[in-house]
Amino acid sequence: MQAFALVFALVVGLGQARGQSDPFTFDFTELAPGVWAGVRPDVGRTPVMGSATFVISDAGVVVFDGGGVPLMSERLIEKIRALTELPVTHVVISHWHGDHNFGISSFRDEFPGVEIVAHEFTYEAMTRGKTDYIHRRPGAVPPMRERYLARIESGLDLEGDPLPESVLLRMAEFVDDSDLIHSEYNRLELTLPTMSFRESLTIHSGSRRIELLFLGAGNTAGDLVMWLPEERVVAAGDLVVHPTPYGFNVPPRAWADTLGRLNALDYDVLVPGHGELQYDTRYVDLLIEVCESLVAQRDALVAAGVPSEEAQAQLDFTAFEPRFTGGDPESADLFFQYFERPMRSATFKELTGEPMVALD
Ligand SMILES: [Zn+2]
Repeated sequence: MQAFALVFALVVGLGQARGQSDPFTFDFTELAPGVWAGVRPDVGRTPVMGSATFVISDAGVVVFDGGGVPLMSERLIEKIRALTELPVTHVVISHWHGDHNFGISSFRDEFPGVEIVAHEFTYEAMTRGKTDYIHRRPGAVPPMRERYLARIESGLDLEGDPLPESVLLRMAEFVDDSDLIHSEYNRLELTLPTMSFRESLTIHSGSRRIELLFLGAGNTAGDLVMWLPEERVVAAGDLVVHPTPYGFNVPPRAWADTLGRLNALDYDVLVPGHGELQYDTRYVDLLIEVCESLVAQRDALVAAGVPSEEAQAQLDFTAFEPRFTGGDPESADLFFQYFERPMRSATFKELTGEPMVALD
Protein backbone atom coordinates (compact mmCIF):
# COMPACT_ATOMS: atom_id res chain seq x y z
CA MET A 1 0.00 0.00 0.00
CA GLN A 2 2.97 2.28 0.54
CA ALA A 3 3.81 2.66 -3.16
CA PHE A 4 0.12 3.18 -3.88
CA ALA A 5 -0.22 6.05 -1.38
CA LEU A 6 3.03 7.64 -2.46
CA VAL A 7 2.17 7.54 -6.14
CA PHE A 8 -1.28 8.96 -5.62
CA ALA A 9 0.11 11.77 -3.49
CA LEU A 10 2.53 12.52 -6.32
CA VAL A 11 -0.22 12.43 -8.93
CA VAL A 12 -2.31 14.90 -6.98
CA GLY A 13 0.76 17.17 -6.95
CA LEU A 14 1.29 16.60 -10.65
CA GLY A 15 -2.35 17.41 -11.37
CA GLN A 16 -2.06 20.70 -9.52
CA ALA A 17 1.17 21.51 -11.36
CA ARG A 18 -0.55 20.79 -14.67
CA GLY A 19 -3.55 22.93 -13.78
CA GLN A 20 -5.76 19.81 -13.80
CA SER A 21 -5.41 19.41 -17.57
CA ASP A 22 -6.56 16.12 -19.05
CA PRO A 23 -4.91 13.97 -21.74
CA PHE A 24 -7.10 15.49 -24.48
CA THR A 25 -5.87 19.07 -24.06
CA PHE A 26 -4.24 21.18 -26.76
CA ASP A 27 -1.72 23.97 -26.26
CA PHE A 28 -2.36 26.38 -29.13
CA THR A 29 0.33 28.49 -30.82
CA GLU A 30 -0.15 30.92 -33.72
CA LEU A 31 2.69 30.13 -36.15
CA ALA A 32 1.89 32.83 -38.72
CA PRO A 33 -1.17 35.10 -39.00
CA GLY A 34 -4.17 32.74 -39.08
CA VAL A 35 -2.04 29.57 -38.96
CA TRP A 36 -2.30 27.65 -35.69
CA ALA A 37 -0.85 24.50 -34.17
CA GLY A 38 -2.45 22.59 -31.31
CA VAL A 39 -0.01 20.36 -29.46
CA ARG A 40 -0.96 18.03 -26.64
CA PRO A 41 1.31 19.06 -23.75
CA ASP A 42 3.36 16.31 -22.09
CA VAL A 43 4.09 14.07 -25.05
CA GLY A 44 4.73 11.02 -22.84
CA ARG A 45 1.24 10.92 -21.35
CA THR A 46 -0.97 7.89 -22.13
CA PRO A 47 -2.74 7.70 -24.51
CA VAL A 48 -0.55 9.48 -27.07
CA MET A 49 -2.58 11.99 -29.10
CA GLY A 50 -1.56 13.63 -32.38
CA SER A 51 -1.07 17.35 -32.90
CA ALA A 52 -3.44 19.45 -35.01
CA THR A 53 -2.71 22.33 -37.38
CA PHE A 54 -5.27 24.67 -38.96
CA VAL A 55 -5.24 27.47 -41.48
CA ILE A 56 -7.84 30.24 -41.58
CA SER A 57 -8.34 31.91 -44.95
CA ASP A 58 -10.93 34.38 -46.20
CA ALA A 59 -12.85 31.38 -47.61
CA GLY A 60 -12.86 28.98 -44.68
CA VAL A 61 -10.67 26.81 -42.50
CA VAL A 62 -8.48 23.85 -43.46
CA VAL A 63 -7.53 21.46 -40.66
CA PHE A 64 -4.62 19.02 -40.81
CA ASP A 65 -5.22 16.20 -38.27
CA GLY A 66 -8.40 16.98 -36.41
CA GLY A 67 -8.15 15.04 -33.14
CA GLY A 68 -7.79 11.49 -31.84
CA VAL A 69 -10.97 11.59 -29.71
CA PRO A 70 -14.18 13.64 -30.08
CA LEU A 71 -13.32 15.86 -27.10
CA MET A 72 -10.10 16.96 -28.84
CA SER A 73 -11.97 17.67 -32.06
CA GLU A 74 -14.60 19.63 -30.11
CA ARG A 75 -11.89 21.68 -28.43
CA LEU A 76 -10.37 22.37 -31.82
CA ILE A 77 -13.74 23.47 -33.18
CA GLU A 78 -14.24 25.68 -30.14
CA LYS A 79 -10.85 27.33 -30.77
CA ILE A 80 -11.65 27.84 -34.47
CA ARG A 81 -15.10 29.27 -33.62
CA ALA A 82 -13.44 31.78 -31.31
CA LEU A 83 -11.26 33.00 -34.20
CA THR A 84 -13.62 33.00 -37.21
CA GLU A 85 -17.23 32.58 -38.24
CA LEU A 86 -16.16 30.83 -41.45
CA PRO A 87 -16.76 27.09 -41.75
CA VAL A 88 -14.18 24.30 -41.81
CA THR A 89 -14.05 23.21 -45.46
CA HIS A 90 -11.43 20.42 -45.30
CA VAL A 91 -10.07 18.07 -42.66
CA VAL A 92 -6.89 16.36 -43.85
CA ILE A 93 -5.83 13.02 -42.34
CA SER A 94 -2.01 12.78 -42.28
CA HIS A 95 -2.07 8.97 -41.93
CA TRP A 96 -4.43 6.25 -40.76
CA HIS A 97 -3.39 5.91 -37.09
CA GLY A 98 -6.41 6.69 -34.91
CA ASP A 99 -4.68 9.12 -32.54
CA HIS A 100 -4.86 11.59 -35.46
CA ASN A 101 -8.41 11.02 -36.74
CA PHE A 102 -10.73 8.96 -34.49
CA GLY A 103 -12.41 12.16 -33.24
CA ILE A 104 -13.08 13.93 -36.53
CA SER A 105 -16.73 12.87 -36.86
CA SER A 106 -17.26 16.02 -34.74
CA PHE A 107 -16.20 18.11 -37.75
CA ARG A 108 -18.64 16.29 -40.03
CA ASP A 109 -21.44 16.87 -37.49
CA GLU A 110 -20.58 20.57 -37.12
CA PHE A 111 -19.76 21.31 -40.78
CA PRO A 112 -21.88 18.94 -42.94
CA GLY A 113 -20.17 19.91 -46.23
CA VAL A 114 -16.64 19.25 -44.97
CA GLU A 115 -14.33 17.22 -47.22
CA ILE A 116 -12.14 14.61 -45.52
CA VAL A 117 -8.87 14.36 -47.44
CA ALA A 118 -6.20 11.65 -47.31
CA HIS A 119 -3.62 9.76 -49.37
CA GLU A 120 -5.00 6.81 -51.34
CA PHE A 121 -2.97 4.42 -49.12
CA THR A 122 -4.68 5.87 -46.03
CA TYR A 123 -8.10 5.39 -47.63
CA GLU A 124 -7.19 1.78 -48.44
CA ALA A 125 -5.89 1.17 -44.92
CA MET A 126 -9.02 2.61 -43.33
CA THR A 127 -11.43 0.70 -45.59
CA ARG A 128 -9.53 -2.59 -45.42
CA GLY A 129 -9.44 -3.23 -41.71
CA LYS A 130 -6.35 -1.46 -40.38
CA THR A 131 -8.47 0.88 -38.24
CA ASP A 132 -10.83 -1.84 -36.95
CA TYR A 133 -9.08 -1.58 -33.59
CA ILE A 134 -11.29 1.45 -33.02
CA HIS A 135 -13.94 -0.99 -31.73
CA ARG A 136 -11.54 -2.60 -29.24
CA ARG A 137 -10.40 0.67 -27.71
CA PRO A 138 -13.10 1.17 -25.01
CA GLY A 139 -12.94 -2.44 -23.82
CA ALA A 140 -9.18 -2.22 -23.32
CA VAL A 141 -9.33 0.58 -20.75
CA PRO A 142 -10.82 -1.16 -17.63
CA PRO A 143 -8.43 -4.16 -17.73
CA MET A 144 -5.47 -1.83 -18.26
CA ARG A 145 -6.60 0.22 -15.27
CA GLU A 146 -6.78 -2.96 -13.14
CA ARG A 147 -3.32 -4.10 -14.28
CA TYR A 148 -1.82 -0.72 -13.47
CA LEU A 149 -3.53 -0.61 -10.06
CA ALA A 150 -2.02 -3.99 -9.21
CA ARG A 151 1.45 -2.82 -10.30
CA ILE A 152 1.09 0.41 -8.30
CA GLU A 153 0.00 -1.48 -5.17
CA SER A 154 2.93 -3.87 -5.34
CA GLY A 155 5.42 -1.39 -6.75
CA LEU A 156 6.83 -4.33 -8.71
CA ASP A 157 6.87 -5.37 -12.35
CA LEU A 158 5.75 -8.81 -13.56
CA GLU A 159 9.22 -10.27 -12.85
CA GLY A 160 9.05 -8.99 -9.26
CA ASP A 161 11.57 -6.18 -9.81
CA PRO A 162 10.84 -2.72 -8.37
CA LEU A 163 9.30 -0.33 -10.89
CA PRO A 164 10.93 3.10 -11.25
CA GLU A 165 8.94 5.96 -9.77
CA SER A 166 8.57 7.56 -13.22
CA VAL A 167 6.79 4.43 -14.50
CA LEU A 168 4.57 4.21 -11.40
CA LEU A 169 3.65 7.86 -11.89
CA ARG A 170 2.65 7.28 -15.52
CA MET A 171 0.50 4.33 -14.42
CA ALA A 172 -1.15 6.36 -11.66
CA GLU A 173 -1.77 9.18 -14.11
CA PHE A 174 -3.54 6.74 -16.45
CA VAL A 175 -5.64 5.35 -13.57
CA ASP A 176 -6.56 8.91 -12.69
CA ASP A 177 -7.54 9.68 -16.31
CA SER A 178 -9.17 6.33 -17.06
CA ASP A 179 -12.86 7.33 -16.64
CA LEU A 180 -12.47 10.16 -19.14
CA ILE A 181 -10.43 8.01 -21.54
CA HIS A 182 -13.06 5.27 -21.34
CA SER A 183 -15.95 7.63 -22.01
CA GLU A 184 -14.13 9.26 -24.95
CA TYR A 185 -13.21 5.87 -26.43
CA ASN A 186 -16.90 4.94 -26.29
CA ARG A 187 -17.61 7.92 -28.57
CA LEU A 188 -15.01 7.10 -31.24
CA GLU A 189 -16.26 6.87 -34.79
CA LEU A 190 -14.43 6.00 -37.99
CA THR A 191 -14.68 8.88 -40.48
CA LEU A 192 -13.53 7.85 -43.94
CA PRO A 193 -11.89 10.18 -46.45
CA THR A 194 -14.23 11.68 -49.05
CA MET A 195 -11.28 12.59 -51.31
CA SER A 196 -7.95 10.86 -51.86
CA PHE A 197 -4.90 11.29 -54.08
CA ARG A 198 -1.45 9.80 -54.59
CA GLU A 199 1.06 12.60 -55.13
CA SER A 200 -0.05 16.12 -54.33
CA LEU A 201 -3.11 18.28 -54.01
CA THR A 202 -3.24 22.05 -53.65
CA ILE A 203 -6.16 23.64 -51.85
CA HIS A 204 -6.66 27.25 -52.98
CA SER A 205 -8.58 28.48 -49.97
CA GLY A 206 -9.33 32.14 -50.69
CA SER A 207 -5.92 33.73 -51.13
CA ARG A 208 -4.11 30.92 -49.27
CA ARG A 209 -2.09 28.25 -51.01
CA ILE A 210 -2.19 25.02 -49.02
CA GLU A 211 -0.13 22.17 -50.51
CA LEU A 212 -0.73 18.59 -49.44
CA LEU A 213 2.31 16.57 -50.41
CA PHE A 214 3.24 12.91 -50.40
CA LEU A 215 7.03 13.02 -50.00
CA GLY A 216 7.55 9.26 -49.85
CA ALA A 217 7.29 6.40 -47.36
CA GLY A 218 8.14 6.86 -43.70
CA ASN A 219 5.83 6.39 -40.74
CA THR A 220 3.38 4.69 -43.16
CA ALA A 221 3.38 4.22 -46.93
CA GLY A 222 0.95 7.13 -47.31
CA ASP A 223 1.87 9.96 -44.95
CA LEU A 224 0.93 13.46 -46.10
CA VAL A 225 2.51 16.72 -45.06
CA MET A 226 0.80 20.11 -45.27
CA TRP A 227 3.10 22.79 -46.68
CA LEU A 228 2.30 26.50 -46.68
CA PRO A 229 4.87 28.01 -49.08
CA GLU A 230 3.95 31.63 -48.30
CA GLU A 231 4.08 31.22 -44.52
CA ARG A 232 6.94 28.64 -44.62
CA VAL A 233 5.09 26.36 -42.20
CA VAL A 234 4.99 22.58 -42.57
CA ALA A 235 2.90 20.07 -40.61
CA ALA A 236 4.76 16.77 -40.81
CA GLY A 237 2.45 14.25 -39.14
CA ASP A 238 4.27 11.29 -37.61
CA LEU A 239 7.13 11.42 -40.13
CA VAL A 240 8.55 13.57 -37.34
CA VAL A 241 7.81 12.83 -33.68
CA HIS A 242 9.72 14.63 -30.91
CA PRO A 243 11.59 13.77 -28.72
CA THR A 244 11.23 10.02 -29.33
CA PRO A 245 10.72 9.06 -32.99
CA TYR A 246 8.24 6.32 -33.89
CA GLY A 247 10.02 3.46 -35.65
CA PHE A 248 7.15 0.99 -36.04
CA ASN A 249 7.26 -0.56 -39.53
CA VAL A 250 9.41 2.29 -40.86
CA PRO A 251 11.95 1.53 -43.64
CA PRO A 252 15.05 3.65 -42.81
CA ARG A 253 16.37 4.16 -46.38
CA ALA A 254 13.00 5.41 -47.62
CA TRP A 255 12.39 7.44 -44.46
CA ALA A 256 15.76 9.22 -44.72
CA ASP A 257 15.01 10.12 -48.35
CA THR A 258 11.52 11.37 -47.43
CA LEU A 259 12.93 13.48 -44.59
CA GLY A 260 15.53 14.90 -46.98
CA ARG A 261 12.68 16.10 -49.23
CA LEU A 262 10.92 17.49 -46.15
CA ASN A 263 14.00 19.53 -45.14
CA ALA A 264 14.39 20.72 -48.74
CA LEU A 265 11.12 22.64 -48.27
CA ASP A 266 13.19 25.07 -46.17
CA TYR A 267 10.48 25.66 -43.57
CA ASP A 268 10.62 28.19 -40.74
CA VAL A 269 8.38 26.11 -38.45
CA LEU A 270 7.67 22.38 -38.44
CA VAL A 271 4.73 20.88 -36.53
CA PRO A 272 5.63 17.29 -35.55
CA GLY A 273 2.91 14.65 -35.27
CA HIS A 274 3.63 14.65 -31.53
CA GLY A 275 5.86 16.86 -29.43
CA GLU A 276 7.41 20.29 -29.53
CA LEU A 277 7.36 22.65 -32.50
CA GLN A 278 10.66 22.77 -34.40
CA TYR A 279 12.05 26.10 -35.60
CA ASP A 280 15.02 24.74 -37.58
CA THR A 281 16.03 21.52 -39.38
CA ARG A 282 18.31 20.16 -36.65
CA TYR A 283 15.94 17.53 -35.27
CA VAL A 284 15.04 16.25 -38.74
CA ASP A 285 18.78 16.21 -39.57
CA LEU A 286 19.29 13.96 -36.53
CA LEU A 287 16.53 11.61 -37.73
CA ILE A 288 18.17 11.42 -41.15
CA GLU A 289 21.53 10.75 -39.53
CA VAL A 290 20.26 7.82 -37.45
CA CYS A 291 18.47 6.31 -40.47
CA GLU A 292 21.61 6.65 -42.62
CA SER A 293 23.64 4.98 -39.87
CA LEU A 294 21.21 2.04 -39.64
CA VAL A 295 21.29 1.58 -43.42
CA ALA A 296 25.12 1.66 -43.48
CA GLN A 297 25.36 -0.79 -40.58
CA ARG A 298 22.82 -3.10 -42.18
CA ASP A 299 24.53 -3.09 -45.56
CA ALA A 300 27.92 -3.84 -43.96
CA LEU A 301 26.45 -6.73 -41.93
CA VAL A 302 24.75 -8.18 -45.00
CA ALA A 303 27.97 -7.83 -47.05
CA ALA A 304 29.83 -9.69 -44.28
CA GLY A 305 27.32 -12.53 -44.57
CA VAL A 306 25.91 -12.13 -41.02
CA PRO A 307 22.55 -13.94 -40.84
CA SER A 308 19.57 -11.62 -40.59
CA GLU A 309 18.53 -12.34 -37.00
CA GLU A 310 22.07 -11.94 -35.68
CA ALA A 311 22.57 -8.81 -37.78
CA GLN A 312 19.38 -7.27 -36.34
CA ALA A 313 20.73 -7.78 -32.84
CA GLN A 314 24.07 -6.22 -33.82
CA LEU A 315 22.65 -2.88 -35.00
CA ASP A 316 24.19 -0.31 -32.68
CA PHE A 317 22.10 2.64 -31.42
CA THR A 318 24.39 3.70 -28.56
CA ALA A 319 25.84 6.76 -30.32
CA PHE A 320 22.32 8.10 -30.94
CA GLU A 321 20.34 7.23 -27.81
CA PRO A 322 21.71 10.07 -25.61
CA ARG A 323 21.19 12.57 -28.44
CA PHE A 324 17.47 11.78 -28.35
CA THR A 325 17.04 11.22 -24.61
CA GLY A 326 19.54 13.59 -23.01
CA GLY A 327 20.20 10.79 -20.52
CA ASP A 328 16.66 10.87 -19.09
CA PRO A 329 15.66 7.31 -17.97
CA GLU A 330 11.98 7.64 -18.98
CA SER A 331 12.99 8.90 -22.44
CA ALA A 332 15.54 6.10 -22.72
CA ASP A 333 12.83 3.53 -22.07
CA LEU A 334 10.58 5.12 -24.71
CA PHE A 335 13.49 5.32 -27.16
CA PHE A 336 13.98 1.57 -26.75
CA GLN A 337 10.29 0.68 -27.09
CA TYR A 338 9.19 3.14 -29.79
CA PHE A 339 12.34 3.34 -31.88
CA GLU A 340 15.20 0.93 -31.25
CA ARG A 341 13.28 -2.33 -30.93
CA PRO A 342 10.91 -1.82 -33.91
CA MET A 343 13.68 -0.35 -36.10
CA ARG A 344 15.81 -3.49 -35.71
CA SER A 345 13.29 -5.59 -37.61
CA ALA A 346 12.09 -2.82 -39.96
CA THR A 347 15.65 -2.11 -41.10
CA PHE A 348 16.00 -5.66 -42.37
CA LYS A 349 12.43 -5.98 -43.59
CA GLU A 350 13.18 -3.07 -45.93
CA LEU A 351 15.68 -5.26 -47.81
CA THR A 352 13.06 -7.87 -48.73
CA GLY A 353 10.82 -5.22 -50.29
CA GLU A 354 7.72 -6.65 -48.61
CA PRO A 355 5.16 -4.05 -47.51
CA MET A 356 5.68 -2.95 -43.91
CA VAL A 357 1.94 -3.08 -43.30
CA ALA A 358 -0.14 -5.62 -45.22
CA LEU A 359 -3.58 -4.44 -46.29
CA ASP A 360 -5.96 -7.39 -46.24
ZN1 LIG B 1 0.54 9.60 -33.91
